[in-house]
This record gives sequence, structure tokens and C-alpha cells, in this order.
Amino acid sequence: MIKHHPKIELIQAFVDGDLPASLSAGIAMHAEMCSQCQQKIVQLTEHAAEVSFEEAFLDKFIVDDTSTIMSDSDSDDIDFEAMAELISQSNDIDIPEPALDKSIVFNDKTYKLPKALNNMPMSKISNIGKLSRARLQLDENEIHTSLLQIEAGGGVPEHTHKGFELTLLLDGSFHDESGEYVKGDFIMLDGSHQHHPVSKEGCLCYTVANDALHFTQGINKLLNPIGSFIY
Ligand SMILES: [Zn+2]
Repeated sequence: MIKHHPKIELIQAFVDGDLPASLSAGIAMHAEMCSQCQQKIVQLTEHAAEVSFEEAFLDKFIVDDTSTIMSDSDSDDIDFEAMAELISQSNDIDIPEPALDKSIVFNDKTYKLPKALNNMPMSKISNIGKLSRARLQLDENEIHTSLLQIEAGGGVPEHTHKGFELTLLLDGSFHDESGEYVKGDFIMLDGSHQHHPVSKEGCLCYTVANDALHFTQGINKLLNPIGSFIY
């Protein structure tokens, strides 16, 4: 069962369109797997639509010359037929095309891609030990986004971050000092967290980070290639 969800502030920013594409996709993918957050998004979106409708309505009153609004002779000029036609026409427009299922293969294991990633350009897969990574090319400067596979028995050495690190589990499971994570879990960490993720059965994660990893144990020189690989 999913235990880790995006904070409500993050969902609000998602609804408002304020998030970078990488985080926005993370929320969308989590919502594909989490009906609870899907529900929140629907509610916040409806609320935002109501507010913007009210604002647009009020704006019209404030901006328009009141004499034209108050005059009662105008009511005959409204072309109800044309309006009805417009409304019925709009029913025909928005038929969404069925999304094609795409998949990605890491080390002979095929994963179905979440819809949000279907149209994102992706680099080739590269490996280091039991870690494999495909970069998503979103061109968001210091924000790096990847699909990361940890093979069974693999892990990431204990580390912390100066920035943030989002891990969304797309398949499999892993655990760290805080517990076990399963498919759908949305894990947002910052510099106050330090962890050492290990996957017994293997997993595929969507990761977003805005700074390299900082290893807290072992010889940094040896671990740094892993750090830049994962970031
Ligand atoms: Zn959720």
C-alpha cells in the first residue's frame, strides 16, 4: 500500500501550473497510481476553475462601462442561437486520443512507462554496478531527472543532499533507515535527511534532484562517480 504522498502544497502548485516539468510529471505519475491524490487534484482543480470564473466575471463588471451593462435594451441583441451552436460544437472538439502504451527495457526486464513519460526524450541506458540509468532530457538546468533501476541486492551508499531529491517508485520496492517503500510511494527528501537505500528484489524509480549526492560514509573519492551518475 502507498504510504508516502506529495504534500498538499506541492499538489496545489501542480494544479496552479507552478512546478517544473520534472516535478509536475512526478505528481502526475503518482496520481496515476494513487486514487487519494487523484481526488485531491480534482477538488483543487475544480476550486481553481470556480475562482478563475468568478474573477473573470467580476473583472468584466469592473472593466466594462456600467452604462452598457445597465441598459435594458441590449438584452434583445443576444444571439441565443449562435450561443447554443457554440456550446454544442464544443462537445465535438475535445476527444482525447487513446494513449499508446510504451515500455522501457533495463537489463532484460521490461517496464511499462507511465503515461506522463510517454513523450519525454530519453537518453540511452548506462550502468555502474547494479545501478542503471536513463536520463530524461528536460533541459531544466540544475534539475536532473532520470529513470534509475536498482538490480536485486543493489543499493546507493549512505548519502545526503544539499538540494532536494524526489524518488517515485514505479516498480518493485526498496528500504532505507525509515522503512520499506513500495510501488507508487512519493518520497521527497532534503538536506535534513540522510539515507542508504537498498533493494532486495530490485526496483525502478523516477528520480529528480537539483544537486549531487553527498556521501556521508566511506571514501568520497571512490563514491563520487556514483554520485554524479545518480544525480
Ligand atoms: Zn497519493
